[in-house]
Amino acid sequence: MKISDVRVVTVRIPLKVPKRFATRTVSYRDYTIATVFTDEGLVGWGYCWGTLLVSIAIEELLREVLIGEDPFAINRLWNKMYKAMAVWDRRGISSRAIAAIDIALWDLLGRACGMPIYRLLGGFRDKVPAYYSGGYYPVNCSTDAELLGYLEKEFSTYVQKGFKAFKMKVGGVSLSLDLKRIELARKIIGDEADLMIDANNVWDPDTAIAIARQLEKYRIRWLEEPVAIDDLVGCARVAANVPMPVAIGENHFTRWDFREIVDRKAASILQGDPTLMGGITEWLNLAGVAATYGLILAPHWTHDLNVQVGAARPEVLYIEYFELESDVFNFQRLLKNPVKASDGFVRPPDGPGHGLELDEDAVKHYAYKGSTAF
Ligand SMILES: [Mg+2]
Repeated sequence: MKISDVRVVTVRIPLKVPKRFATRTVSYRDYTIATVFTDEGLVGWGYCWGTLLVSIAIEELLREVLIGEDPFAINRLWNKMYKAMAVWDRRGISSRAIAAIDIALWDLLGRACGMPIYRLLGGFRDKVPAYYSGGYYPVNCSTDAELLGYLEKEFSTYVQKGFKAFKMKVGGVSLSLDLKRIELARKIIGDEADLMIDANNVWDPDTAIAIARQLEKYRIRWLEEPVAIDDLVGCARVAANVPMPVAIGENHFTRWDFREIVDRKAASILQGDPTLMGGITEWLNLAGVAATYGLILAPHWTHDLNVQVGAARPEVLYIEYFELESDVFNFQRLLKNPVKASDGFVRPPDGPGHGLELDEDAVKHYAYKGSTAF
C-alpha cells in the first residue's frame, strides 16, 4: 500500500460570545484537517489547532515527501517530515503540520487493523479521568457580579454532571476579584474535587510566586503557565517556590522543548498536546520521559483525540475536557459523533483509528478562504 495523495482544509469556527483570558481574547477557532489517501482506497484523517499557515506547510512541504510512501512506516515518515520542515521551522507551525499528518497515519493504521489507536498503543484502560475546563472571562460579563455569576452557573452545572476536577482562568482581572472567583469555585466544587488555575503566561516570576502563596488554602492541584512561555528559568524559580505543582506544555513542541523543561525542573506536570507537539508519535516520546522521571501528563485541549493517548498510557492523570455548549473549543461542530464525558470520565469511541467521523457538510460550511477542497 502506498500513499497516493494528501489533502488539507482549514476551517474557521466563530465563538458565539468571544472569550477573554489573561493574555488574549478569542472570537474564533481555526483548525487544519489533513486527509491521507492510499492507492488501495484506505483513508485516514487527522487534525490540529492550526491556521492557514499550517495547511500551507502541509501542502507545500510535507505532501511531496509523503506521496508514494508506505503509510504504516509511521516512525520513518515522522523523521522524513521533520527533516523536510527543519530548515524552515522547527516548532509551532511545523510541529502542528506534522501532527495533523501523523494523527492521520495512526488513524489509517487503526482502520487497516480494525482497532482503536489506544489499543494499538497497548491500551492501559477503557476510560480516562477528565477535568472540566472553563472559567473564562466572557466579553459580555462587564461587572464583577456578572463574572462571579457566570462562574457559579457554569461550575454548578458540571458538578451536577459528575465532574470531580475543574480548571479556571486567572490573571485577567484584579487579584481581589480573582481571589473571590477562586473562593467561589472551591465552594461550588467542594473540598474533595481538584481545582486548577491557568494564568496563560501573564505574570513575571516574583508576581506568580507572591500570588500563588496566597492560594495555599484553596488546595490548587496545579498552577498552569504562570510566566512567559520561553522563560523556563523563571518558571523553574516559580515551581521551586510555590505550594502547588506547576504545569506547562501547551505551548511547547517536540521532545526537545520538553527536555528543556525537564532538565530545568520548570514544571512537574507536562501538558504536551499530540495535535500541537508533533503528533501521537512524538507525544509517545514525552510519555516515555514522564514514565522515566516520575512526571505527570495532562494533555491539553481536544479530548476527542486525547482520550486515545490517555487510555493508552498510565502517566496521564487527566485529559482536558471542553463542552461544546461552553463555547470555548468548538471542533465538535465538525463531528458526527463528538465524544462526551460521563461522570467525569471519557471513553474512547468504538470505531477503529481515532473513531471520529467528520461531518463533511459542516467542514464545507466553515471552510476558510484559501483552503483547497478536501
Ligand atoms: Mg492553558
